[in-house]
Amino acid sequence: MIRLGIVLPCYNEDEIIMDTYSKIAQFMSGLIANDKVSADSLILFVDDGSNDGTWELIKELIQTDKQVRGIKFSRNFGQQRALWAGVTAIAKKVDAVVTLDADLQDDYLVIDEMLEAFQQGSDIVYGVRNCRDTDHYFKRVSAELFYYLMKKINPQMIKNHANFRLMSKRTALLLDEYAESNLYLRGIIPLIGFPSTKVFYSRKERVAGKTKYSIHKMIHLAIDGITSFSIAPIQWTRNIGLSTFLFGVFYAVYILFQKTFNHPVPGWSSLVLSLWLLCGIQLIGISVIGEYVGKIYYEVKRRPKYIIEESTIDLNEETIREN
Ligand code: UDP
Ligand code: MG
Repeated sequence: MIRLGIVLPCYNEDEIIMDTYSKIAQFMSGLIANDKVSADSLILFVDDGSNDGTWELIKELIQTDKQVRGIKFSRNFGQQRALWAGVTAIAKKVDAVVTLDADLQDDYLVIDEMLEAFQQGSDIVYGVRNCRDTDHYFKRVSAELFYYLMKKINPQMIKNHANFRLMSKRTALLLDEYAESNLYLRGIIPLIGFPSTKVFYSRKERVAGKTKYSIHKMIHLAIDGITSFSIAPIQWTRNIGLSTFLFGVFYAVYILFQKTFNHPVPGWSSLVLSLWLLCGIQLIGISVIGEYVGKIYYEVKRRPKYIIEESTIDLNEETIREN
């Protein structure tokens, strides 16, 4: 029978964590009762440095339910790192791991389908949204643009899949081999290449609390997603630069022609225009290169991906520590 681990990253989720727990625990009992997963399956909450009462509530749950485990980060390291920590901590103890947002916007009921796919031999089962109706206009448009760019850069990337997925033990264990500190799981996992399938679901509205992703955080995640997987943006800027240069050459020929055969026209507007355009292109080029240099800077420092302040899951042992 499958020993399942469900990993839920939480950042300031004290408004919903109890509700989330009761739904997931009830769902898990159903799976156990139907012999789909074993009775020693686990629910792991990763507190990503919350500054509300999230960790106190997780500790309460750990006391009352022996299926529950918790990891607390010393500060906010971001959802990707929380997922990474949770998955790598639980990987040795379970046969399959499901990662899920703590606000349960993703439909946890399809975990059932994920388990079936896993039993039929899929190592990775991606939860894919079948529509984006619950997103506001800006998020829908930016997601379209993002996936359009990502498909060019990383063709393996799965559209409308975020962090809701099932991974087999061997997939989850493999994550430790990726030494990069700039984590972007939904880009890395498809590159592993193990057998995979998708299950479709519709994403719900958040029931309480606010999104932890501001526009600023979303833009950062998107830039990380793009620059972690390819140097294509550098090549794009090179191509833009080359095209601009070629255009300049033709334009120079045209101007010489005008100067020789027609009356020269004082060209203030074209001069100013080209100045702005070219300065803009140069700055974009420099910033793209700067982004990569910055990434190298972070990687060479080899700082830890996250710092665990408290944990009730034994991070080294294969066995499960009793409460
Ligand atoms: N989250 C996290 N660290 C962060 C931001 C978010 O662990 O720095 C968690 C958050 O608690 C939630 C999940 O990641 O469980 C998804 O976040 P959210 O619901 O705010 O994102 P959205 O659904 O709006 O994209
Ligand atoms: Mg959410």
